[in-house]
Amino acid sequence: MPLPHTFIVKPSLPAKLKPFLELAYNLYWPRYLETAALFRDLDPGVWEKTDHNPVLLLMSLPPNRIQEIAGDPGYIARLERVWQQHQEAITPKASWARDHGLDGDLFIAYFSAEFGLSEALPIYAGGLGFLAGDHLKSASDLGLPMVGVGLLYRQGYFHQRLDRQGHQQEIYPYNDFYQLPLVAERRPGGEPLTVRVNFPDPDRQVEARVWRARVGNLNLYLLDTDCPGNLEEDRLITDRLYGGDLEKRIQQEIILGIGGVRALKALGIDASIYHLNEGHSAFLVLERMHQLQEQYGIDSGTARELAASSNIFTTHTPVAAGIDIFPPYLIDKYFTEYYQALGLSRQEFLALGRKDPNNQQEPFNMAVLALRLSARANGVSQLHGQTARQMWQSVWPGLPVEAVPIDAITNGVHTTSWVGPRMAALYDYYLGSGWRDDPASPDAWARIEEIPARELWQAHEEQRRELLAFARRRLAQQLRGWGAGLREIAALEECFDPGALTIGFARRFAAYKRPALLLSNPERLARLLGDKQRPVQIIYAGKAHPRDEEGKQLIQQITTLTGDAAFRGRLVFLEDYDLEVARYLVQGVDAWLGNPRRPLEASSTSGMKAVVNGALQASTLDGWWAEAWTPATGWAIGSGEVYADAGYQDAVEGEALYNLLEKEIIPLFYERDGSNLPAAWVEMMKRSIKTYAPTFNTQRMVAEYSQQFYLPVAGLYRRLQAGNQERARKLAAWRSRVKGAWPVLKIEEVTDDRQDEVVAGGSLKVQARIYLGTLQPEEVAVELYYGPVGPGGEITAGEKVELVDYQDRGGGRYLYSGTIPCRQGGRQGYNLLVLPRHEDQAYPYQSGLILWG
Ligand SMILES: *Cc1c(COP(=O)(O)O)cnc(C)c1O
Repeated sequence: MPLPHTFIVKPSLPAKLKPFLELAYNLYWPRYLETAALFRDLDPGVWEKTDHNPVLLLMSLPPNRIQEIAGDPGYIARLERVWQQHQEAITPKASWARDHGLDGDLFIAYFSAEFGLSEALPIYAGGLGFLAGDHLKSASDLGLPMVGVGLLYRQGYFHQRLDRQGHQQEIYPYNDFYQLPLVAERRPGGEPLTVRVNFPDPDRQVEARVWRARVGNLNLYLLDTDCPGNLEEDRLITDRLYGGDLEKRIQQEIILGIGGVRALKALGIDASIYHLNEGHSAFLVLERMHQLQEQYGIDSGTARELAASSNIFTTHTPVAAGIDIFPPYLIDKYFTEYYQALGLSRQEFLALGRKDPNNQQEPFNMAVLALRLSARANGVSQLHGQTARQMWQSVWPGLPVEAVPIDAITNGVHTTSWVGPRMAALYDYYLGSGWRDDPASPDAWARIEEIPARELWQAHEEQRRELLAFARRRLAQQLRGWGAGLREIAALEECFDPGALTIGFARRFAAYKRPALLLSNPERLARLLGDKQRPVQIIYAGKAHPRDEEGKQLIQQITTLTGDAAFRGRLVFLEDYDLEVARYLVQGVDAWLGNPRRPLEASSTSGMKAVVNGALQASTLDGWWAEAWTPATGWAIGSGEVYADAGYQDAVEGEALYNLLEKEIIPLFYERDGSNLPAAWVEMMKRSIKTYAPTFNTQRMVAEYSQQFYLPVAGLYRRLQAGNQERARKLAAWRSRVKGAWPVLKIEEVTDDRQDEVVAGGSLKVQARIYLGTLQPEEVAVELYYGPVGPGGEITAGEKVELVDYQDRGGGRYLYSGTIPCRQGGRQGYNLLVLPRHEDQAYPYQSGLILWG
């Protein structure tokens, strides 16, 4: 049979019901619960069956049901109310933009390989995706001019099914894009908007279609290569998120980075900031150079200055193995034509992705590419910032670790998307609308104290009941899938104790997260769970990466225990951890558990979702918890030490976890007053909400990105671009001249006025004779780097002072002088260093040149 002629059927609704369409095609519902209820009540069965897909639901409504709704004044009134609230909520608070000097020239393109926005659009795997989704929502709330750019995966990420033995099965959904909240972008003439990239064989072009989703008042553009004109294998490039081998990965990243920038151009979008959410999209920096060269007829050096002055790179990975690395042969295969067009040699091109540009063996590293060509870079918690500076120190050889230009902006969550129905109602009543409009303001949360303890506890207990009911439904589904009998399913009524301390552990099953830490002593755990007076129950959920055998075994280890008589009904594993499961879990648990092996968790955000619902967190001091934890607001497992022996560390922290549960968490939860209220626990809930809610949200996070990165960097980009790219050209010429002149620079002599000892509070005068060759003193910064001397003779916790006074000694020689304050006692040291200096550099160490003396 030949392929059929195809056509698209769209839902059709009478005028009164049109808001349904607008809502269905928006992935951000500020009034999530009310909006979801509105759709669900159209047809609860279809709502569940379609994974909460409002578009498909509208498409499946029979005409008589549509008429029925259109004639139901109560329903129409509900729709109008939700629609009005929705519109108000997605209208940005214009004052924020004004207050922060946002002018018309700022426009941000936010690139990410995944976006977690809706269970109906399964193009996310985990934390990175939710962070991207919540970033877009907060940008919409704040009125930032932004678009998202990503890939549209035909099969998305897998659904997880477990067999009776706990083996993970992966089921890939098939996404019919026409049934999702997406619109195919079209050219003015009506034909689909596509972009093309060249692949190695002559004439092999890959076409990608551009789809648009709405997120509040922003657009998210998604690229998909499943186009009829493509080779069969190229149609599969975007079939799965993180699927396939290394070559598939490079193909996906070419589509995302290069295709993504081409899509923006085709859409007429001229962004001044390109934000790379992790290194997957880093090829975009090359395409930016390419386009700037074509557009302005500038050389590659100038194009590089311009492109790099508008990129921002956020890294989420604390281990080298988490970074995409491509062997040179793959780069040769896909980029030979491309680097020739850029005017670069093979060696120059490969050097962009190498820590050591001269090492011919080194593979091409996407994070290095992003770091080299960005104006700002950051890690996603304060601790991860430190880890990232250590990890990438070698990209700036010779630079002290504290000076490595990677900042930290701690992750957050989009508050209203994660707060459950009962808590939201309570917040609305006691806090007013501030917690919705301006969650990053401590004032918005100050009145938490005024919520009567009993009301807070009741609201929380209702959310816990909702969770337990949901978990039973899911477990029943799981049992039915295994062909279990009615008796077995009915026995689920016995599962859970409605009032028991309920602990949640849900995350990706990766070894470093140690999902089985709590099971390290099964007898001890069985005693806790089986305690008749003070029962405890634990709900697990999480997927293992399809190729992660260790993660899969951990799932099995836990599911095996769930069947054991000592744990039955008190220890459960829910299949298919996704947005919906996460929502119930973080809203309903009493305590949220995290026990990653420090420092391998860059941030983690699930605990932030839980604490804003009143759960208390117990975690090792890693990621956000390392900076957030206080004894009054949660629990620390262990003391944040890192042991060389991981097995020993697990033993110590496993023991610490049991002790915490036995001595603190369980007793506090069951310390009840005459009316069965856990007053001290509720007090701690209030302190936790009040402390964490204003800080660990994406409104604060996006505001930080805006103030520290977007605004200053956009200013730099405009300056370099102005007047025929004049400053970019000068900067490029300067950089190339400095590079040529650098090898002859020499620190000829360093002297100081130290006698035997320096008294604390005094100072040390230092002089240095430096040969600058052809460079002028204005073109270099001469700095003293000083601090206490550590055991290996190195300077620890160094600080710097710049030597600004100099005398011209003729012949390219200069005598610099300055003083070091000696505040601390003990052995101190200093070094002298010289760096290129230019006011248009994005940051002082951008050239990578440094001279020590
Ligand atoms: C929030 C969330 C994550 C990320 O949270 P972590 O704490 O990093 O594990 C992953 N998956 C789902 C479904 C989430 O909701």
